[in-house]
Amino acid sequence: AASLAAPPATAVAAFPYQDPGLPVSTRVADLMSRMSVDEKLGQMTQAERASVTNADVTTYRLGSVLSGGGSAPSPNTATGWADMYDRFQNAALATPLGIPLVYGVDAVHGHNNVAGATIFPHNIGLGATRDPALVQRIGRAVAEEVSGTGIDWNFAPCLCVARNDRWGRTYESFGETPDLPSSMTSIITGLQGTALNGPASVLATAKHYVGDGGTNAGADQGDTQLSESELRAVHLPPFQAAVERGVGSVMISFSSWNGAKLHGHQYLITTVLKGELGFGGFVVSDWNGVDQIDGAQGTSALDVRTAVNAGVDMVMAPTEWRRFIELLRAEVQAGRVTTARVDDAVRRILTKKFELGLFEKPLTDRSYTASVGSAAHRTLAREAVAKSQVVLKNAGGLLPLAKSGGKIFVAGKSADDIGNQSGGWTISWQGASGNVTPGTTVLQGIRNTVGSGATVTYSRDGGGIDGSYRVAVAVVGETPYAETQGDRPSGLGLDAADLSTIATLRASGVPVVVVLVSGRPLDIASQLPGWNALVAAWLPGTEGQGVADVLFGAVPPTGKLPMTWMNSASQQPINTGDGKTPLFAQGYGLTYAAGQDDTTPPAAPGAPVASAITSSSATLTWAASTDNVGVTRYEVVRLQSSAETPAATASTASAALTGLSATTSYTFAVYAVDAAGNRSPRSAPVTLTTSGGGTSGGCSVTPSTQSQWGNGYVIQATVTNTGAA
Ligand code: BGC
Repeated sequence: AASLAAPPATAVAAFPYQDPGLPVSTRVADLMSRMSVDEKLGQMTQAERASVTNADVTTYRLGSVLSGGGSAPSPNTATGWADMYDRFQNAALATPLGIPLVYGVDAVHGHNNVAGATIFPHNIGLGATRDPALVQRIGRAVAEEVSGTGIDWNFAPCLCVARNDRWGRTYESFGETPDLPSSMTSIITGLQGTALNGPASVLATAKHYVGDGGTNAGADQGDTQLSESELRAVHLPPFQAAVERGVGSVMISFSSWNGAKLHGHQYLITTVLKGELGFGGFVVSDWNGVDQIDGAQGTSALDVRTAVNAGVDMVMAPTEWRRFIELLRAEVQAGRVTTARVDDAVRRILTKKFELGLFEKPLTDRSYTASVGSAAHRTLAREAVAKSQVVLKNAGGLLPLAKSGGKIFVAGKSADDIGNQSGGWTISWQGASGNVTPGTTVLQGIRNTVGSGATVTYSRDGGGIDGSYRVAVAVVGETPYAETQGDRPSGLGLDAADLSTIATLRASGVPVVVVLVSGRPLDIASQLPGWNALVAAWLPGTEGQGVADVLFGAVPPTGKLPMTWMNSASQQPINTGDGKTPLFAQGYGLTYAAGQDDTTPPAAPGAPVASAITSSSATLTWAASTDNVGVTRYEVVRLQSSAETPAATASTASAALTGLSATTSYTFAVYAVDAAGNRSPRSAPVTLTTSGGGTSGGCSVTPSTQSQWGNGYVIQATVTNTGAA
């Protein structure tokens, strides 16, 4: 909310805390010395904007207001938001100490509550770009749009490591292994800028701490049942990366860890996050999340004291904020919450307010209002959309499509639907189908691309197609949802209408490209053989032109799967390194390079066998990938938790492993890789233990049949393990 408005009338600071020349810690200490207990409790309170009046903000000395997913609709123009923000902020400035509010919003893929804002791909698509620098630029663009409406604080990024596609928040994840969300913490640097009080700087939130993506059966707000070492290996690293990036706030997860609610988890919040990781910002609860601690409805004294004592600094108490303040006051008076804990919480909150420059520039910087939905930001979003497309099948090199000549048929419920392509968290919490906000649909993108060079015919259900068309593009998949409402405890496939649309197109004999608009991998293995090409578009947002850019080759496809793609829904959860055979491995994605018109990635190599470790080396041998058409090399990786470390590259089905210690156990697995770098599903891992005691043996390979397959030949090999060496 940095503003270029004139400084307050009193140019000379009456109190030290008002002096921007003093260090933040000095200003915080001075301000806190002037605050009553009630003023401190107000700072720890966040109310929902439709549940507070301007007068409440002044009377209760509230520290924060939010427009959350579950809030009543806020104004839908950028100017309307800025006006609303300034009214609330002026109410806070009217208190005796004039402490400004910090106002929070979920701008999770662009400033998505504001009609006309640029809607970027949801995180799952950004994960597919594998481009942290691009994601940082997106963070900057979002910060500008958010600042243009006055807002100071963004409840983003979600750093969940989504481990089960049944989870309704899978699309809020950058990827299923910790490396992807960790690298995409670059968005924090984009949002917060180089300095929190710099131009268009917005406080970021790493959420939801911790293990939200690891719940049993992928249930939203469920229980993450993992050992501490697994929790630390899989779910903690992105938060560590966020802390290293200087993230200003962390939001607690609704979920539990081994049965204990995160909102009351002193060990994970205070010992690990604030202590071990050294997080110096403030911790905010999730929407009524504190209420769930005692298992009963509503806020109780037990909920409040457990959460605050666990280390929650600000409580998102959207509608029950008065009750929260009363309960916390009673707990403090009774000594069950210490004043030292309250002071620590308030110090953390005020420190960020000072660092943000809110005391100097509390009102909206209207110079950024025009950036909401600006052409420059839409161009950036289009780039991100193109880079997020993952080409999964391209039989006979059907893609890229020629821009001119003949007729193209476009169908599917998401071909001409901004709401569907934007997903949840767009204008409303759950999102909605239809024209919810201005943008370019995939159909419009296709029409723009071909211009007058080709005829484009559209029908939603595919009706009207005949054999005269050159290609049919079916844009199908999921309709919008958010959070728990997106959980799919059963079924993850296309719905009957989508299947019927595709069947109608296929019946015409025209080659069919399926573009999947979805928040997660879908269960499509049984239909895939009938499709000529498949592109995962994720939830691209308002700039559908980026999808057309890849379909027609204006931008070459570079997106790679951020998640393992199930071969069947019964495999859920399926993740890298779990030994299950997916339809497409994490990291898979075709290019349009020569040789990329094969329909299938290289098959997994056979399970490796290893010689015993001799001094510091051993030999790993495996069965050749059954796809000898495209395999150019094998990559051997060492596995530790879910992480992979490259160990060797080989051109034949054998590799020497070096640098081993005879007193350590190692697990290795092998990928077959084609010329374009596409990886097969990984082979079953093999464990090497110490000299003499390890998995050891050999194998004999007997080539048998050689048959025509795709554009080349497959050699079927019989692999026989010959036992211990
Ligand atoms: C979600 C959070 C969000 C909050 C405020 C909650 O339901 O879990 O991710 O930041 O609402 O809208």
